[in-house]
Parts: sequence; structure tokens; C-alpha cells
Amino acid sequence: MVRRPARRARRGRSRAGPRDGWTSTSARKLDPGICGPRRACRAPTSSNGLWPVLRQRGPRPALRSSTPTGIELPGRGTRVRAMRVVRVQVGRAGEIVIDGRAVPTAIVKRPVEGPVAIGRLGLEGDERVLRRRHGEEHHAVYAYPEAHYGWWEERLGRTLAPGIFGENLTVDGPLETEARIGDRIACGTALLQVAQPRIPCRKLRHQLGLRSSLDFLATRRVGYYLRVLREGVVQAGDRFEVVERAEGSPTVDTFVRIATEDYWDVVGLRELIAARDLDPTWREDLGDKLARAEAAEGWLGFRELEVVRREAAGEGAVHLWLACPWGRPLGPHRPGQAVGVLVRPVEGSRPMRRRYAITAREGERIRLTVRVAARRSVEEGVGLVSSYVHALEAGGRLAVSAPRGSWTAEALPRGVRRVTVLSAGMGIAPAVPLVRDLREAGLAVRAVHFRPEPGEPPLWDEARALGFEREGDLDVALRERPPGAVYAAGPRGFVASLGERLEVLGHDGAAFVEEVGPGPVPVPAAPPPPSEPPGCDG
Ligand SMILES: Cc1cc2nc3c(=O)[nH]c(=O)nc-3n(C[C@H](O)[C@H](O)[C@H](O)COP(=O)(O)OP(=O)(O)OC[C@H]3O[C@@H](n4cnc5c(N)ncnc54)[C@H](O)[C@@H]3O)c2cc1C
Repeated sequence: MVRRPARRARRGRSRAGPRDGWTSTSARKLDPGICGPRRACRAPTSSNGLWPVLRQRGPRPALRSSTPTGIELPGRGTRVRAMRVVRVQVGRAGEIVIDGRAVPTAIVKRPVEGPVAIGRLGLEGDERVLRRRHGEEHHAVYAYPEAHYGWWEERLGRTLAPGIFGENLTVDGPLETEARIGDRIACGTALLQVAQPRIPCRKLRHQLGLRSSLDFLATRRVGYYLRVLREGVVQAGDRFEVVERAEGSPTVDTFVRIATEDYWDVVGLRELIAARDLDPTWREDLGDKLARAEAAEGWLGFRELEVVRREAAGEGAVHLWLACPWGRPLGPHRPGQAVGVLVRPVEGSRPMRRRYAITAREGERIRLTVRVAARRSVEEGVGLVSSYVHALEAGGRLAVSAPRGSWTAEALPRGVRRVTVLSAGMGIAPAVPLVRDLREAGLAVRAVHFRPEPGEPPLWDEARALGFEREGDLDVALRERPPGAVYAAGPRGFVASLGERLEVLGHDGAAFVEEVGPGPVPVPAAPPPPSEPPGCDG
């Protein structure tokens, strides 16, 4: 340990609310980056990728500190919270038993009183079990916001020991939504730089008693690793302040989201790769992800889209307009194609996948038209997905896979100019955009919706405007052999009897059939979820 003049260090954990160490608005002028309003991360109502859907229950909570950044004091102007080191911790190499096996680790850390030297590879007295992996300059010091302790204690239902996350510095400092990769932070007499987020390992999972380390990651309350730009000395109570903002660099929160959930996000991945002074290991990893995302048709796996508008679609169906909550493009699709959705319709139920046609598009918004398949049977476990999706309101989120399917105009053999499109049930959903597309391409299209029962089907206004006929009897709808190609979409029974009818009529042209009901959902393979990471602590 390094000796230096004793200072009054704060002991124990800080609590919310005003206390010593407030600075005046002049600090805001000097350092607008840290003194601006605290931005809470948006709280999606579903998840972005497959694994969080599997693990997450309910909405992701907003990331917000229990202590305010600024406070209005009558007559004194806005005061700004000082950024401080709350505790300093170091750990000795030892063992913990995980699943019956002894695992070497230095994750168990204990608070240190008095000044501690910060060297290029970390705090003095802080041991690492795998120096090669864990001791490098890009994760020399691990800082964790004190503000998250209360949040975790509430969720875990127990008091957490200081340093439980394996952090070297518990800080009253920038949250993950505020700290940017590359930010420079004055810490005691040292100068540190935000290098990367903490990607948790099984040791942390064990410490917290979580089912999976991914549960920790999904909260995005992960803290961050710092590299040491200038060695120095730190003790509890010292300042921990951003002195140079890495403007344009992603925040730690954004970094975690894109690198571990939104791996489809080509634009976001490029921004991550351009993060200031990024660890080369991350650059390589993100480069691989970017190459896969760029090569993908549409996007990989499931991504979260937000319901931006909900409209009635007739016969109890709804139109849901979906857009990327991060404003990213959706990529092209072909009329007649469908997306996959992944939902956990009832708490505790298994995740389920279904397909829904894109019935319209406005720029970077797509429209799905969903009818509840079997409302009265929800208790029996049928109609669950359509009921869930149908109930989504504006602002709700849905995990959606990229548009897929060959029930499109592109499937037509060259030279075919006449087409018959037949639909039944919700087969009308892909049929409407397909007919519109075929007409725009100048083809002669006859469109018939088969519906024996009275009443109008969903989307009928649009279908009628496109000249759809309506027929209750398939033999009447298809009296003669249809010229050219036939497209058919509808429930299994309809598709089967249509096939028989075409055979009777001796139709020998191309036929494209889409069975619109439960079935496999083609999803471009997503990268595996993050596992034992570069940057795991101890
Ligand atoms: C390519 C494709 C595109 C699709 N597009 C749409 C669409 O745009 N809009 C839409 O609402 N659905 C569409 N579907 C159907 C959708 O994927 C689901 O099958 C449907 O929502 C039922 O799922 P569920 O889990 O609610 O009901 P499930 O429990 O899977 O089914 C409940 C009961 O309803 C029957 N059923 C299933 N689907 C339908 C249906 N569409 N009409 C009548 N009965 C049905 C089932 O056979 C079962 O008996 C499409 C399916 C495919 C394959």
C-alpha cells in the first residue's frame, strides 16, 4: 500500500439523497458531459433477442440511479452531485465451489481503508487468477455504480456484501447509460479511461445466485472496466469524475445492447467498432458480428420492433404498424412475405413462434394484420400467440425475425402474364399485398377470396378495392381451368381441396401454395449468446 496524508474516507455505502460533496453549477459549465440530465435507458416491454426472451420476465426496468444528478435548491440554483469513489476493494486469489467443483478465482473482494496504488494493470494487492486473460491493460480496474446495489437487493431479496460484483471501485459515478467508451475519468490522483463493459461469467452468477450470467447481462447494470492512463493513488471518498468526454463514442449501455442483443444492427455495430480506443479483442469480435450481419438477408435472429400504431382491421383483427425503436432500417422485403414472431404469451409458458404476413409498408414501418385464431380456447392453450400479439398496444414490443418466403411475384416463371390468386381465412393477409404487387407489375390478375360464412373478412376494404371476388364454393370459384399460374394461401383444409380441384381441372401451370397456419418459422441463425467473455473478472 502507498502512504500518503490521511484523508477522511467515507465508510460503508452511500444512500440516496443530498449529502456532502455537492458542487455548484459552475461544475456543469466546466464539464457539461457529466452534469447534464441523467438519461434513463428505455424500458422495452419485450426483449431484443432470443435469449433475453427466454429469461426475462416482464418489462426491462429503466436504468436509473437512486440518487439524483441535479437538485433544485430554492434561491441557490441547481446543484450537481459530485462523483466519488464510495469504496475501494481488492481480492486475493482463492477458490469458490460452483456446482460441486472448486473454481480458482479472485472475485471475492474486500474493502480497503486508506490509499491504494493504481498501477497500469490494476490496484495494488488485487490478485488475478489468470493474468493472461484477466490482467491486461484493457480491464485493469473494474468500477460498479453504488446506485445499483439497492436495485439488486430489492430483486434478490437480500443485503449484498460490499464488493459482491467483484468490483475494485464502488462509485457514485456515471451509470452505464452515461459513461462512454473512451471517457477519461480522474480517479484520486490517477487518470483512467472507460475501456469496456463487464461481461459476466459464471463466478458472478454464483456470487449473486442467478440462474444464468446472461440474467445479469440482460439488466445492462454491468459496470465497466477502466484502463489506467496515468498511475496514481485512490481511496474511498476521492473524486471519480469524467474529465474528458469521448463524444460520439457509444455509452456502455448501448455497447452491451448492440454487442449482445442487437447483433443484427449493422449501423450500431459500425459505431461500436469506431468507439474510442476500443480493446482490439472487442474490435475483432464485433468485426465478425458485423460481417455476419452484413451478409444476412434481412437480419439475424429476432430483433425487437415497437408497435407505433394500432388500427382496426375488420372482423376483430388489428393492424399493427411496427418500427425499429432505435430508428434503424428494416431492409427490403417482397410483397407476400411473412415475418416470424417470438413471444412468451403467458408468464412461465415456453416461447412460441408464429408467422405473420407483412400486409403493407410505409418506409421503415411494416404492418401486420392479426386475427385471434381461437379466442375461446386460450385456457386450453390454443390461440395463445395471436391473442398475445393482437392485444399489443402502441409502445408495446415484439421480437420479430426477418421477412422470409417465396410466395412472391419473383417466383413466377418468365413469360407468365396471367395469374389467379386464391385465398381463404387469413390467407387474405399475404394475398392483398401480392395482388397489389402483381398488378403494379402489369400482370392480368384474377383474385378470389373463398369464404362460405357470412360477414366480411379482415382487410376486405383493401381487397375489394383491388377487385377481389368473393366466393363461398370452391367449385364455383374455379369452374374452369385457370390460365397461367395459381397462387393459393389459406388454412390446410383449403389448400388441400384446392390442390384436388386443380387436378380435376387439369391445371398444369405453376402453382404456389402457402399454408397459413401454425408451422415452422424460418429464422436466419443468430450468433450464439455471449458466454465466458474477454474481460471476465477474476
Ligand atoms: C406464412 C404465414 C403467414 C401468416 N400470416 C398471418 C397473418 O397475416 N395474420 C394472421 O392472423 N395469421 C397469420 N398466420 C397464422 C399465424 O401464424 C398463426 O398460425 C395464428 O395466429 C394462430 O396462432 P396461435 O398460436 O394464436 O393459435 P394456435 O394455437 O396455433 O391455433 C389455434 C387454432 O386455430 C387454428 N388456426 C391457426 N391459424 C389460423 C388462422 N389463420 N385462421 C383460422 N384458424 C387458424 C389452428 O389450427 C388451431 O386449431 C400466418 C401463417 C403463416 C404460415
